[in-house]
Amino acid sequence: MSKAKFIFVTGGVTSSLGKGIIASALGNLFQSRGYKTTILKLDPYLNVDPGTLNPYEHGECYVTQDGAETDLDLGHYERFLNIPTSQLNNVTTGSIYNTVIERERKGDFLGKTVQIIPHITDEIKNRILKLEKNKKFKIIIIEIGGTVGDIESLPYIEALRQFKFERKNDVAVVHLTLLPFLSATGELKTKPTQHSVKTMLQSGVQPDVIVCRSEQPLTESVKRKIALFCNIEYASVIESVDVDTIYEVPIKMLEQKLDSVVSKILGFKSLNKINNSVWKKRLQKIKHSKSDLVIGIIGKYVELKDSYKSIFESITHASAFLGLGVSINWIQSDQITHKNIAKEVAGCHGVIVAPGFGDRGINGKIIAVQHARENNVPFLGICLGMQIAVIEFFRNVCGHKTAHSSEMNPKTKYPVIDLMKNQLDVINKGGTMRLGSYRCKLLKSSKCYQAYKSEDIMERHRHRYELNNKYRQELINHGMSLVGTNEDLDLVEIIEIDKHPWFVGVQFHPEYQSTFINPHPLFISFINATLLNLKS
Ligand code: GLN
Repeated sequence: MSKAKFIFVTGGVTSSLGKGIIASALGNLFQSRGYKTTILKLDPYLNVDPGTLNPYEHGECYVTQDGAETDLDLGHYERFLNIPTSQLNNVTTGSIYNTVIERERKGDFLGKTVQIIPHITDEIKNRILKLEKNKKFKIIIIEIGGTVGDIESLPYIEALRQFKFERKNDVAVVHLTLLPFLSATGELKTKPTQHSVKTMLQSGVQPDVIVCRSEQPLTESVKRKIALFCNIEYASVIESVDVDTIYEVPIKMLEQKLDSVVSKILGFKSLNKINNSVWKKRLQKIKHSKSDLVIGIIGKYVELKDSYKSIFESITHASAFLGLGVSINWIQSDQITHKNIAKEVAGCHGVIVAPGFGDRGINGKIIAVQHARENNVPFLGICLGMQIAVIEFFRNVCGHKTAHSSEMNPKTKYPVIDLMKNQLDVINKGGTMRLGSYRCKLLKSSKCYQAYKSEDIMERHRHRYELNNKYRQELINHGMSLVGTNEDLDLVEIIEIDKHPWFVGVQFHPEYQSTFINPHPLFISFINATLLNLKS
């Protein structure tokens, strides 16, 4: 395969403009035209990875098949490109410095002074080139986190300047900005965009394309102004107006010809025909589905929805596939009591108890599981949610009221959820959980088997605790079915309750594998169960 082409995506004016979505949408368009595409996220913070970050700081921590704890944008890359990412797809300043300092300790730099330029910038470029070296991709999109002008992202912008100089005809720079709308004068303002491009120019980088986020369509004169002040072609000013669903963005960017503008800059003589008919059909289904179903998501970070990004998107994928509208009732777990639970989940046709760590909100989650179990409400417990289901069952059905997870109560008499053996000696918190894809064997008699239609599945994990094998038999005797196991590690991965219409707890994270084109079977099955509940 010939050399790859590189598209850098930078952001100006404010953060949270959706660089990840624009990068994903552009990737989706190239992919739909038959060019093998991948996306790399460069994160400017000093943490080695986001695994140790609180969701309030950073939203969800996404996990790749090969067990990297990464930025949530990698979830978007997978959901839009429908192919897995890997640890090569997320680079942080912390990991760059780690590598450079380790090499310095080994003596690799032969007595030289180690500096940001060239040593840090070389390492950044190395990480980008690693994706080219494995020869799988024709298009490599690189999203630079943060906003231009941030002190922290300067080494990345400098690496981009060098890279563009070294690989002139293989590089395009797409800069995403915001055009604020002043209602007093009824105008879209271009000045912040001009300033952010000037900031890039100070670092020696001229953007090739400017994508403008705005609430209103851009007039011709606004586009001309941006083209003139920012030294770009008129056709390279792309409008990105707010849309109802992120899955519409590739279609909007296609209408705006973003992919063809970028391909010209990259020296493509022509572009392959696009094949995105499945995507478009699915999108129509979202737009025309009615919203009667309500799913309750119970978690301790619900005020920051990004903490449960992949769960939310998985519900969207499954409901688009089924042509059903679903709305979410976000429920704060530490507000739940025996007294108010019926009111909190009233109107929910199914509930999900979310993943999590630590003690806050645990009692509320146990109460919510009990309510779902006793009232035949479809229930999906994910990771901590599955552990809570086991604790609740062991307390209220098996009758051991003090049962707990040793994570919350290390002294409990019944540690029905306990630390995995190989975690006992672990001291460092970063990157040491059970991470990434593991095999799981399903019982043919289970609801999960009906969903997956396979006895062997692979799912991604991120946890330290597990169902304690000592209590397996007692759980089974009382009517809990242990329907999914990892035979190599002798671990229970899925529990069900046969007598309940749909009660499933999974130790893994199905939400990491759901994509817009391939919704996850477990979410489809769960939503079908909530629909039955609604109808009854
Ligand atoms: N805190 C639990 C554990 O470490 C669950 C983790 C999770 O929900 N991702 O096992």
